[in-house]
Amino acid sequence: MPQLREKTNSFHYVFGPVLSRRLGRSLGIDLVPFKTCTYDCIYCQLGRTTLKTVLRKEYVPLEAVLHELHQKITANTVFDYITLAGSGEPTLHSGIGRFIREARKLSDKPIAVITNGSLLWDAAVRNDLAAADVVIPSLDAASESTFSQVNRPHDAISFARMLEGLIAFRSEFPNRIWLEILLVDGITSTESEVNALVQIVQKIKPDRVQLTTVTRPPAAGPARPVPRELLDRFAAMFGENTEVLAAIPKHETTPVGTASKDDVLAVVQRHPCSLDDIAGSLGIPLEEATRHVETLLHDCLLTTYVLDGVVMFVPLRREPSDNTTKP
Ligand code: SF4
Repeated sequence: MPQLREKTNSFHYVFGPVLSRRLGRSLGIDLVPFKTCTYDCIYCQLGRTTLKTVLRKEYVPLEAVLHELHQKITANTVFDYITLAGSGEPTLHSGIGRFIREARKLSDKPIAVITNGSLLWDAAVRNDLAAADVVIPSLDAASESTFSQVNRPHDAISFARMLEGLIAFRSEFPNRIWLEILLVDGITSTESEVNALVQIVQKIKPDRVQLTTVTRPPAAGPARPVPRELLDRFAAMFGENTEVLAAIPKHETTPVGTASKDDVLAVVQRHPCSLDDIAGSLGIPLEEATRHVETLLHDCLLTTYVLDGVVMFVPLRREPSDNTTKP
């Protein structure tokens, strides 16, 4: 799968900037190959995890990632954050700490890490994230049973171990922690589950809680979104510093630049998008997004499916797989 990216994109590891609900114009960094993760969440937009692992190693060459970042910066790319996220779990990359320190030398923009938080019980991972400005870990469940159902973790990660890591990280990390809680209809959307989550959040003490639900179609799995009114009601249970993550407001999607067809492909490779999503994420006019999508369809690099009457674009290469492997 990465081979396709090598043939079509001049950038393999750095994508965007994309407009993000939380981080403005976010320059994405992908430190692991498509879909290398410690979890196999039922709501994952990328499809089934093909390498489920807890093994930390240099999955992609760090020098190449830093070189691409340097290229983006010297091309005067406008962005608000450098964000580690993408095709899997970034803390699996053993060089993430070094990446953050080196990126800091290349740019004065803040650095955010979007992580599932599953490896924070490992002191080396906590140490690696110490230099980040914002860490956005996930907590999607309040018990071993709902954790298994929603996140389908690697066997080495118990709910207790994951939670212990989140609490330890908070006690050491001096910068901002925004805890993302994604609720799935019919599994974690009950008052008792949310009550239990509230108790746990009080122990973790994040700077912010960001409540969300399934916003894009999962490529595999039965996850359904929680209705907005219910999310608002649950948000009130968490109290202050809690927000419901909504779609990017219309005014933020005003075109702010241009993009290449490779930029469009890089975004679609990280999550399924409608034409509006593509234009909004990249800050380009709808006509420009349409032109690039038509080319990518013609080149057999994208395919489509219809969800609730909206045409969604996904890379042609993505095929859900059950071939999870363990170290
Ligand atoms: S949603 Fe994130 S943590 Fe869950 S399987 Fe997908 S990439 Fe991994």
